[in-house]
Amino acid sequence: MNLINIKHPQEKVSFREAVTRGLGSDQGLYFFEHLTALPDPLTVLRMDRESRNVAVLGHLLGDELDTETLTTLVRSALDFPVACPRVSPQMRALELFHGPSLAFKDFGARFMARCLAHFRAEDSSDQPMTILTATSGDTGAAVAHAYHGQPGIRAVVLYPRGKITPLQEKLFCTLGGNITTLAVDSDFDCCQSLVKQAFDDVEIREGLGLNSANSINIARLVAQVTYYFDAAAQVLAEDGEAALERQVLCVPSGNFGNLTAGLLALAIGLPCKRMIAATNANDTVPRYLASGRWDPNPTQATITNAMDVSQPNNFPRVLELGERHGLDLAALLSACSVSDDDTAAAMRALHQDGYLADPHSALAWKALGESLDEDEQGIFLCTAHPAKFLEVIRDVLELDVPLPPALAEVADKEVLSDVIPGEFAAFRQKLLDL
Ligand SMILES: *Cc1c(COP(=O)(O)O)cnc(C)c1O
Repeated sequence: MNLINIKHPQEKVSFREAVTRGLGSDQGLYFFEHLTALPDPLTVLRMDRESRNVAVLGHLLGDELDTETLTTLVRSALDFPVACPRVSPQMRALELFHGPSLAFKDFGARFMARCLAHFRAEDSSDQPMTILTATSGDTGAAVAHAYHGQPGIRAVVLYPRGKITPLQEKLFCTLGGNITTLAVDSDFDCCQSLVKQAFDDVEIREGLGLNSANSINIARLVAQVTYYFDAAAQVLAEDGEAALERQVLCVPSGNFGNLTAGLLALAIGLPCKRMIAATNANDTVPRYLASGRWDPNPTQATITNAMDVSQPNNFPRVLELGERHGLDLAALLSACSVSDDDTAAAMRALHQDGYLADPHSALAWKALGESLDEDEQGIFLCTAHPAKFLEVIRDVLELDVPLPPALAEVADKEVLSDVIPGEFAAFRQKLLDL
């Protein structure tokens, strides 16, 4: 199976190369050269979840990974539930936060980790591999959990000391084993700069086999296609075939990876009517779709901070789905921006209806409600567990969210991080001592 570098389409790579390299030359994103529709989507939707995930991934990846391998990867990576409860007569919530870090990033991070481990094992490689990443809170948890216990791979996660919540810290700094967490006495920008300096240091890069876990890796994207089929499978089982064509999917978007995965699902034949990309005040894409002008503003801080992105790095893939793969984006995709006030009001309204949503999920519910016609049905994607955003929920709903078992379990565990100053020399020594 071939992937191309969007910036240099003559540059073709296998899935394996794309996963290991992350980015092509000139920082170009890898994407599919060809996409074909599933011959029989309804049959796929009637399968059990594991078989369906294997069928969808097998269709996307062609013969590069055989069914047995894919089954092993899927069974290990996607080993937590997906739920899609109805929250009102017209709407369902697609809950993607039942994984170990309580956010949908578990899907992509876990599948990517297992792909890397699989390719390494296939090579019988004994070269070291070190995943290095900086986090301002949430991605670090998904990455740390994804690589925990993966043979031959070490993960090093940097975060600004004292600038993430104590609960966030407990969630990924208590794992130990092959996971090293470093609390940097500085801010997030400094953490990112330290990571960059390490990648620029040839001795460190090659000696430790540095690899990034970043969100643009193609392995992450393909894993996220699966849950769109999970949602449709549930609609089919509960409401019948005719209901599928009435579904409108609304995706709370930051870097637009999640939305790209949804459009990929449409491109290979997921039955669905249309999709909505919902953003917060960082509304580059809604403005682009309205005016045709790409005109990013400075990034604004909002209560949906995982979506505070003004230059979404996956958007070239969205455009590629239109230009190369012929997806009718004008008909299938709309976008809208939701203010913090409207997001807070949405959290209150949903809570009154008996559904507790984190701010990102509530924002999607709001955008969906505004757009839905009488003869349509909607599914909004819930990207994080409400317990991940305790502070916002306390402010808006004056309510304390009970801790889910995953968090309650780690709340009393010891934080294993080492503290380092925000200087490269100290960080470099720490890496060499690993
Ligand atoms: C990362 C994230 C998003 C945005 O997803 P993208 O794929 O970057 O658009 C939305 N909600 C939460 C909770 C996130 O962590």
